[in-house]
Amino acid sequence: MRARSPTEMRPPRMRPLARLPVFYALAGKRVVVAGGSAAAAWKAELLSAAAAHVDVYASDPTEELVAVAAHPPLGLITLHDKPWRAEDLAGAALAVGAFDDGVQAARFAAAARAAGVPVNVIDKPTHCDFAFGAIINRSPLVIGVSTDGAAPVFGLAIRAKLEAMIPQGLARWANAARSWRPRLKPAGLSFAARRKFWEIFTAFAVTHPDREPEQPDYEAFLVATARNEKAAELGSVTLVGAGPGDPELLTLRALRALQSADVVLIDDLVSPAILDFARREAKKMLVGKTGFGPSCKQEEINATMIALANAGKRVVRLKGGDPMLFGRAGEEIAACRAAHIAVEVVPGITAAQGVASRIAVSLTQRRIARRVQYITGHAEHGKLPDDIDWAALADPAATTVIYMPRKTIGEMAARAIAHGLDAATPAVAVINATRPDETIVVATLAEIGGRLNQFPAEGPAIVVIGLVLRELYAQAQAAESAAPEAVGLYRPPLRMTSP
Ligand code: SAH
Repeated sequence: MRARSPTEMRPPRMRPLARLPVFYALAGKRVVVAGGSAAAAWKAELLSAAAAHVDVYASDPTEELVAVAAHPPLGLITLHDKPWRAEDLAGAALAVGAFDDGVQAARFAAAARAAGVPVNVIDKPTHCDFAFGAIINRSPLVIGVSTDGAAPVFGLAIRAKLEAMIPQGLARWANAARSWRPRLKPAGLSFAARRKFWEIFTAFAVTHPDREPEQPDYEAFLVATARNEKAAELGSVTLVGAGPGDPELLTLRALRALQSADVVLIDDLVSPAILDFARREAKKMLVGKTGFGPSCKQEEINATMIALANAGKRVVRLKGGDPMLFGRAGEEIAACRAAHIAVEVVPGITAAQGVASRIAVSLTQRRIARRVQYITGHAEHGKLPDDIDWAALADPAATTVIYMPRKTIGEMAARAIAHGLDAATPAVAVINATRPDETIVVATLAEIGGRLNQFPAEGPAIVVIGLVLRELYAQAQAAESAAPEAVGLYRPPLRMTSP
């Protein structure tokens, strides 16, 4: 037996491939579409989007086809009002047929093949040289999915998953890559350095898909490349709205940010259920009062956030509701900018919107409330703010949402009444909106402060005042006469989620 030298060992061959995925450049090429159905229209649109010049032969085109030919996405679509002929196929890059009739389909496929043109007859696999996969379009990044005809529905489901997983913003980064690529060689980067640059670029792009690539990013990558840093050393801060509590109210973007975080800085107000959605390995730090004691000041939060980002961490600053409402986001953004740290904001569902959904009341209603105002019941000194616009608050045609109402709602209601708002205006207090321990209390403006204070002070609460609550008030009254012990307590008829 001969001894085998290591060089003789071959890596395993590629496993059989059901289809060869190729990405065909169609710009300026002619493609023939035969048939006038809606399916033909959709293919014409697709081919035009890929910049082909599409010649459609259809004696009886559908409305869809006429419409898409009138406004093609990119490449010209020429509608020929007659059946196809074999001569039309000469020189075409591709041929696509839409025929119900098997004989016509076979004739078209045979003619195309005779002319040396790859052919696809929609839904007739035997007459297809190639298939159109399901597409995820982040051009110039394009993903095609094929199941070799085995299970198109399965292919579509995979596509849906990829659509959700692959942020739209990656298209921007792919475009940036295209425009930055030619600059790298003249910038004097060696092959190894260019590779490093693209590693850094990619690590940043996939973790910051929603960011608009900018010149400073390009420069930061060059600097990082020169310093031979690890890609992960470019830190960032993302302010993420966690919504009012129910994790299902997180946005897809918030979810993505949470799943790519290295560190999550958490407000008191963020519902614990949300944290299950953060990356398991991410370090979670409470920066609300419970985390650091009453001394956790805004400046300390900013300093922590910036120190972490400077150490190369992807920091998610998770805030209850929407970050841009009563959350001091402005100060955090300014601190990041001052420290030259990339900062972005992911909006969240604010408590008011969570509440509106739970009581199923529209906050604006024609002729009843044309205006919604969000105000805070809590000024810096912990008391009622002294610059409240009482006339605006007493406006019966506005819906008023009061954040942080606990300590001051009684006083606020009394002053609104003194300024002319009807004491019988309906009001609702919602504690822990959208959370499993949600409590909804319905009362009049005059009573709402007293009613809210009957509940323990734990859990965030919001008060809504306004005539839009008339029906809710009537329902609560009816429920109260049926069960007097449940004064003013309102149970939503439907619960959307099962926490
Ligand atoms: N940025 C947040 C508001 C922060 S201020 C947002 O957009 O919702 C904190 C106040 O928000 C709380 O005092 C309370 O008034 C309100 N709040 C937040 N979450 C709430 C919830 N789940 N239920 C009721 N009120 C809530």
